[in-house]
Amino acid sequence: MTIHHHPDDDLLVDLAAGALGAGRALVLTVHLDHCSHCRERLHALQALGGALLEDTEPMALDAGAWVRTLERIDALPGQDVRPGRRPAAAWRAPLPDGLELPASLRGCGSTPWRWGGPGVKFSRVQVAAEPDGSVFLLRIGAGRSLPRHSHGEVEFTQVLCGGFADGRASFEPGDFDAADDSVLHQPVVGPDRECVCLAYLSAPLRFEGKLASLMGGLIGL
Ligand SMILES: [Zn+2]
Repeated sequence: MTIHHHPDDDLLVDLAAGALGAGRALVLTVHLDHCSHCRERLHALQALGGALLEDTEPMALDAGAWVRTLERIDALPGQDVRPGRRPAAAWRAPLPDGLELPASLRGCGSTPWRWGGPGVKFSRVQVAAEPDGSVFLLRIGAGRSLPRHSHGEVEFTQVLCGGFADGRASFEPGDFDAADDSVLHQPVVGPDRECVCLAYLSAPLRFEGKLASLMGGLIGL
């Protein structure tokens, strides 16, 4: 797998600092599952952060710091194996032949595949630490496309199989993309294979055209 599109340093720093919500962190960690380049960058950034901390004068922590740290650990995505925790929700969206569930998704549940427009299915991924979050799997048929859209805020996309092009670039398995409200695009899947992506949306997509907007509202994307 040759990966061409990676998250930028700011996102990796935020991930290391626990400053991302669980949904965003989940999409990034799925990228890290596949990308040794970014795992090495993350370790380098963590080492740099540790060295900076060693040079910092010690200061007293307030009484709530330890509790907040535990809450952040609770909020991390992935399987929670501590005793007394409820088991993970079931995974109900079978993946295409040959596509394994990424390691970071194994603690999550999912809804069954639902119709999301011509040639498009989607499944909502259930993240225990962010039950109201908007993490989706999108499954788009070969040669099909999503309606042209922009974003309310930010959209993270991680390609799991297949590929698409959106006029800005081509995205292949392992590639990561962060798009914001300045990006207006129409992802078109290549002709040879369906595309499955993991996506995080911080706000509903803004589709062009009344029909696409109506459909987006109906299916909750
Ligand atoms: Zn990477």
